[in-house]
Amino acid sequence: MREKLAGKRLAYNPDLWYDMQCNNISIGEEALSVMTGQSTGGKLGIYIHIPFCYSKCAYCDFYSFVPKDPTIYERYTNALLSHMEYYKNAASQRTPDSVYIGGGTPTALPPEQLLRIIRGVRRIFHLTKNAEYTVEVNPATASYKDFLHMRRAGVNRISIGLQSANAEELKALSRIHTREEFAQCFQDARRAKIENISVDLMFGIPRQTQESLLWSIDYVTKLRPEHISLYNLKIEPGTPFYRLRHQLPLPDEDTEFDMYRSACAFLERRGYRQYEISNFAQPGKLCRHNLKYWNCEEYLGFGPSAHSYFNGTRFSFVPSILAYIRGIEHIDSDIGITASSEEIKGKARMGEYIMLKFRLSDGLPLGEFRRTFGSDFLELYGAKLPFYLKKGYMVRRGDNIALTHAGMFVSNYILSDILTFADLNAISPANQF
Ligand code: SF4
Repeated sequence: MREKLAGKRLAYNPDLWYDMQCNNISIGEEALSVMTGQSTGGKLGIYIHIPFCYSKCAYCDFYSFVPKDPTIYERYTNALLSHMEYYKNAASQRTPDSVYIGGGTPTALPPEQLLRIIRGVRRIFHLTKNAEYTVEVNPATASYKDFLHMRRAGVNRISIGLQSANAEELKALSRIHTREEFAQCFQDARRAKIENISVDLMFGIPRQTQESLLWSIDYVTKLRPEHISLYNLKIEPGTPFYRLRHQLPLPDEDTEFDMYRSACAFLERRGYRQYEISNFAQPGKLCRHNLKYWNCEEYLGFGPSAHSYFNGTRFSFVPSILAYIRGIEHIDSDIGITASSEEIKGKARMGEYIMLKFRLSDGLPLGEFRRTFGSDFLELYGAKLPFYLKKGYMVRRGDNIALTHAGMFVSNYILSDILTFADLNAISPANQF
């Protein structure tokens, strides 16, 4: 079967959700109402994009850059805060219970600007008392003092982008930090009493082997972070890696599959339950913010290239910091900086629901599908399922149908096989694989 699917792996894309990244992964009342297009004052996630980096990694296609003019930090911070004020009333009917400050490298901002943003979000959106508040950190760009200030300003979760614990692999990725700097960063965060830490790792790095991947995972799990994300390196158009793609010594697809499968098993043995294609957590430490994306709940994104799903509409802002700042400085609505906007209804909503639910280890709940869409999933899409169930790519657990590890690795192929051409066309381009 694997042979049959070999070469059919449509870009396995854990970052399906653009620039972006709970304790309960079943869809709630609010999420259901969002799926049906009626807002009822449900929960809300806030995403803030910080598009600054110290240097540009060779594989990265996120909207981020190395600023030449330091006055941009202050201007950008002011623009972000004004933009959030603009949404204050619209969001006042919601309950913001998660914030994610990502990038880019949020800690590339001067500390005073980052703290202004952290406090600004809390002030403007009246977060719930136990809101999950995450800041992404590049190792070697944040100290104990930074973490202390962040925690005192309300941050309770840190996501550290290690990618690999192997020096050669870090060099191949053109990361600016070492494993030792990561270890220091991790200890500093712990010393500052950050009790929820996530670490990002990658597989499919040039010259990476299964052994070196497992070694990295072993190294990280010994530190006992609460959460681990494991992404597949993707070669994205427009990046230096893309230009070099024919020369890069990348692991072949079968090796990547073995890496993924063994990594999932290793992480489970170490107490990290896989709850999504690329995400693993200790009990109770699932990322509430990212689950909003996969559970079709509402979130507002601020900053150039940030995406939102709000009031039944998906929209995004221009991937240009100057256009974004000028737009906020000179107009009293954000229409001028909107890059895309699409109401999600009918087939598109159903298609997105299916694609997103199959990212989760719990899979698609058949009863919920019926209640939400008034149709039977098996009647609509069941024809090809017996094949995938029989071959071990899918599994039925009670009322849910889910992908297995093997199925997750080729999820894009399986979903494109199950969904019809019309379904795929109806799905917002941002959410297609
Ligand atoms: S640090 Fe992150 S956002 Fe910045 S260039 Fe590297 S991968 Fe991209």
